[in-house]
Amino acid sequence: MKVLVIGSGGREHALVWKLRQSSRVSEVFCVPGNGGIGAEATCLPGDPRNIAEMLKVAHQVQPQITVVGPELPLSLGIVDEFSRRGLRVFGPTQAAAQLESSKSFAKEFMQRHQIPTAHYAVCSSEDELRKSLGLFSAPIVVKADGLAAGKGVVIAQTRDEAAAAGAEMFSGKLLGSPSSLVVLEEFLSGEELSFLVLSDGERVAPLVASQDHKRVGDGDTGPNTGGMGAYSTADMIDAPMVEWLLNHIARPVVAGMKSEGAEYRGILYCGLMMTATGPMVLEFNCRFGDPETQAVLMRMESDLIEAIEASIEGRVSEGVFRWSTDSSCCVVMSSGGYPGSFIAGRKISGLDRAAKLSNVKVFHSGTSQRDGSFYTAGGRVLGVTARAPELKTAIARAYEAVSMIDFEEMHYRKDIGARVIGKSGDRTTG
Ligand code: AMP
Repeated sequence: MKVLVIGSGGREHALVWKLRQSSRVSEVFCVPGNGGIGAEATCLPGDPRNIAEMLKVAHQVQPQITVVGPELPLSLGIVDEFSRRGLRVFGPTQAAAQLESSKSFAKEFMQRHQIPTAHYAVCSSEDELRKSLGLFSAPIVVKADGLAAGKGVVIAQTRDEAAAAGAEMFSGKLLGSPSSLVVLEEFLSGEELSFLVLSDGERVAPLVASQDHKRVGDGDTGPNTGGMGAYSTADMIDAPMVEWLLNHIARPVVAGMKSEGAEYRGILYCGLMMTATGPMVLEFNCRFGDPETQAVLMRMESDLIEAIEASIEGRVSEGVFRWSTDSSCCVVMSSGGYPGSFIAGRKISGLDRAAKLSNVKVFHSGTSQRDGSFYTAGGRVLGVTARAPELKTAIARAYEAVSMIDFEEMHYRKDIGARVIGKSGDRTTG
């Protein structure tokens, strides 16, 4: 069958790579894709934010299934538009995607369905925000309501700081466009964990857990980014915890959405804080994460297209996934300056050598190809991913591949996965 993937990052490269392993997939197209994806799929021009354009591409390609990578087209209703025209598409509808596109919707939904999450207040004006601040003690988490690509969350150390952050969200100073709602939240501490499930609107099947590294610098320092690396191991959470998360979070979310008339199909990404009093939901995403997808798909032994079809056709079961017990690690190589301004167009060397390492895959996040060479074309450039029976070996192999790759002003964290290795008494990397 022909499959169309929408998006242009490392997540989409990992999806394309995994889909191509299916004996049932004959051809993969990607719109718009990137330099690295172009080596494995036919890339077509188009802007994923423009649904009419995506429909035109689908009309041209005639895919049996379309897989949507990023959140923006989902929140704009791409699944509704494709489904209306009889096109099979993987992901939630616009109404269901509100779990990600509106933080106030997600918090109120969790309250209605008794899903564990931090105490909160939804504020519609600066005045209301200032009054609500009295209910919280510092630090206080301040969140803009809409999609903000990771930039809409401020952890304020004082009430004054929280009031100032809220004011900047209302005015548009922080994000470039004004937020009509701002959510205040109790600060939670603990270990963060990404728990993803596949849903068909009724049933769910868990994917393996993973953890990403949001801050740009080693030791979790510096500004937040889209993600600087991720790892996944078989023992991140045990079977009783998976069952708990399914029973108290994933299944109630899917049942709750169905009861509210917005069936949730696709990947439900639960961003969790594992607090001393139990897991709490920090956020939902309505799609695969980036760079967790690179680490997670490296461990998937079953056929991704089978799982996607099961979601579309309403027949998800636990048996839809098979996983390797190996661990995986993805190290993101970024342009110097990212997440601030950076210079693109740097020539990348060493990709051929790195590709020859066994159980290593270099996923491209932001590259372009010209005259047989690859050039940087984004903040996040590559996601160098390795898999091995033990996490420390996966980490070492990923960094071995990283050491072979070079471009001017490149940056990467040297401690991806190191904290967990340190904890178990093993040696750390970097
Ligand atoms: P979100 O987009 O809601 O996941 O928030 C982005 C990041 O902010 C999370 O990955 C956490 O690191 C942090 N964060 C969000 N909410 C809280 C909270 N209630 N307590 C502590 N940290 C939080």
